[in-house]
Amino acid sequence: MSVADDKTVVRQYFNSTGFDRWQRIYGNGEVNRVQRDIRDGHQQTVDRVLEWLQADGNLGGLMVCDAGCGVGSLSIPLGDAGAIVSASDISEKMVAEANQRARNQLITRASNINFMAQDLEKLTGRYHTVICLDVLIHYPQNQAAEMISHLCSLAETRIILSFAPKTLALSILKKIGEFFPGPSKTTRAYQHREADIVKILSDNGFTVSRESMISTSFYFSRLLEAIRC
Ligand code: SAM
Repeated sequence: MSVADDKTVVRQYFNSTGFDRWQRIYGNGEVNRVQRDIRDGHQQTVDRVLEWLQADGNLGGLMVCDAGCGVGSLSIPLGDAGAIVSASDISEKMVAEANQRARNQLITRASNINFMAQDLEKLTGRYHTVICLDVLIHYPQNQAAEMISHLCSLAETRIILSFAPKTLALSILKKIGEFFPGPSKTTRAYQHREADIVKILSDNGFTVSRESMISTSFYFSRLLEAIRC
């Protein structure tokens, strides 16, 4: 399947069944045991990124791009903390939900966040920090390089990425398969070798400065922060 076709499939998925599934997982309502585990794992990823950014002490006014923002799980707390957030997602429904959540949750600082429906490879502008969490799982390795390179071109200082690491191998893929059921291509979850991701970052002038691994029973995410050298 071509890159354009892959993206169409992902976009359609996150505008339909994927939207229903993930907005529930990334919410507060009742979910099943597996979905709760994924919710908890994902929240740990968001919390870790917030810890890193808060530790640097410069969140107020920091220009951040949250590429593939989903329902705003990271963008909303970042905006609330004073960052100026450009939040985008390939799915119009995810962005609309994020916008609604921001309005519901933030009374004074919702205006810090600009939401936009956009493929991350079409994003323009320059940001202090570019963040892309749990998006690469939807794309094979041969598409990851272009996506990450484009994100690097938007980042003046720092990029933060998360991905499902390949080192944990097939047992995890099987588990991931349990929460991406169904016959469609979008049900595939792609793992990435850390060495490949680090090389792409390095080829774009970035060096890894912080790292973390978030693992629960059904959620596995390798988190890297890289700084422009
Ligand atoms: N980053 C968010 C978070 O951690 O809460 C959402 C993660 S969700 C698993 C993956 C998101 O990536 C979906 O909202 C999907 O629509 C979005 N996405 C997938 N491919 C994308 C692309 N090429 N450009 C922008 N967003 C994309």
